[in-house]
Amino acid sequence: MLEYNQQGQIPPGAPQPQPDYANQIGEIFKKLPNDIHLFLFSNPGLDDVFSQSIRQAVRAFRDLTSKIIFREYAVDHELARKWNVDAGPVLLFEPDKYNIRWYGGPLGEEGRTFLELLIYLGLGKSSLSEQSVQVLSKIQESRQVKVFVSPTCPYCPQQAVNAIKAAIERPDLISLELIDIQCRPDLADQYAAHSVPQAFANEALIGMGAQTEELLMASLEKLEPQTVFIPEIESELVEVDLVIVGGGPAGLTAGIYAARSGLNAAVIEKGALGGQVALTPTVENYPGLTQVGGKTLVDIMVTHALEYTTIFPGEEVIDIKIGSPFEVKTSRRRFLTKTILLATGASHRHLGVPGESRLSGRGVSYCATCDGMLFQGKKLIVVGGGNSAATEALYLKNIGIDVTLVHRRDSLRAQEFLVKNLTENRVPILWNTEVIEINGEERVTEVLLLNNQTGETSTLPIDGVFIAIGYEPAVALAEKLGVELTEDGFIRKDENHRSTIPGIYSAGDVEGGYKQIVTAAGQGSEAAMSIFEDLINPYWIKPEEGS
Ligand code: NAP
Repeated sequence: MLEYNQQGQIPPGAPQPQPDYANQIGEIFKKLPNDIHLFLFSNPGLDDVFSQSIRQAVRAFRDLTSKIIFREYAVDHELARKWNVDAGPVLLFEPDKYNIRWYGGPLGEEGRTFLELLIYLGLGKSSLSEQSVQVLSKIQESRQVKVFVSPTCPYCPQQAVNAIKAAIERPDLISLELIDIQCRPDLADQYAAHSVPQAFANEALIGMGAQTEELLMASLEKLEPQTVFIPEIESELVEVDLVIVGGGPAGLTAGIYAARSGLNAAVIEKGALGGQVALTPTVENYPGLTQVGGKTLVDIMVTHALEYTTIFPGEEVIDIKIGSPFEVKTSRRRFLTKTILLATGASHRHLGVPGESRLSGRGVSYCATCDGMLFQGKKLIVVGGGNSAATEALYLKNIGIDVTLVHRRDSLRAQEFLVKNLTENRVPILWNTEVIEINGEERVTEVLLLNNQTGETSTLPIDGVFIAIGYEPAVALAEKLGVELTEDGFIRKDENHRSTIPGIYSAGDVEGGYKQIVTAAGQGSEAAMSIFEDLINPYWIKPEEGS
């Protein structure tokens, strides 16, 4: 984000605009057919950081295009009454045409959402997939949508942008409020939205976490969270040499290496690009980088991968038909491909104790960077004793949270420097302690703890439980395909990353090993090179069958 002084200029020494990005964005705006009218309603005298950041962001974009028309009024102005504005700061977008308002500023991750929103308004259309448009066309009654987001949540732009598209597609029935939980903690509290993103429609929860575009539309139609989307329309067909399922370090690296070998590859990712890394506050010792934010590293990787390969974000693989070629069906299109690389990564391990799933998003969280800010000034525990638990506890401590680490043994498996950091930052640790129950009505209020040495139980009043106890390999798709798994539940593969089904390969956390970002990237490159060699000389075709 560019910084402006009170005269609206970039002060000397502040980061200067990057000419390339600025020009590219300027070119995009030039092609937009419509002007974009934005109205900020704020409280004079109570001008806060959010009003300031909205002004800064709008000015930064206005410097690139004359298409943005920006007006600012007090919340008691007659226009505020006309458009039912009763609290500020709030930004309204084309209020005579759409009902889209944003409580908070386009800070951090939300900058992406803001840019996309401006583009869709300038285009005057939603750019939704045909399937999504068909689902929305079934809605007959109004939907008041609220999406809770946070500037530090890498999942949030996906959910926010999809909700924006819905509001632009059906302005007759769909209204949208984007709510930054830091700007409106009162609303987050009222809806018990203690994780982000969370989406509500007509006061019902319709999505916790980021959904694919089609799933959000289906949830919006049914007014409850949907988990499966079956496309009704015959979708576009894409033919490639390699479909890579998963856009984490393994999948992205495989995409780069496949393209460098001359293969036509496609990376499909249903959630946040970068996978677990996007949610890691700080990554230490990725070669070349002593310390880097997880999301920053992901942005570098994605930008690099995009130079070589096509990425299909927000698309879920629904079905794979084995054959020659394989047919891969996503929520939006079909792929015909000679080979498939499963780089599906791993998902959070759950404690499996009473209260955990019921209070998920209500004080139980698996992502400190996404949800930590909601607990500022409050008391939390982090469960686990590995690198993730230590990193998350330190992150939470640094943002002003009273955090205690709870670990089931008497020593941590986290690396030495992290253990030292915990001591230096005075993070208390409850040793030999297990969480056996998480309690609370609407939100977490206490945990029941067991000291596994003495057998004693105790209750600890608490506002939230952050669980960081490792990951389970994401093998649902592999199992559905009939790929063999190891006794530990990982994909069984040979030294060339070939699975037990010819033409299907694996890389990254889904095949086990050391589970480091750098090893996942290494496995991705190995798998891509092995696929390239196998396509030249397919091991699944016996010599007498070959031509
Ligand atoms: P991890 O290393 O597998 O550690 C999991 C922790 O959770 C362990 O301390 C384990 O206890 C505990 N645990 C497991 N199941 C539990 C249960 N049911 N109840 C209570 N506690 C339980 O997982 P991780 O910390 O998520 O790390 C995953 C991988 O990512 C590791 O390879 C790690 O090195 C890597 N990582 C790297 C960085 C970096 O900056 N380079 C940052 C984060 C993570 P026990 O110790 O008793 O088994």
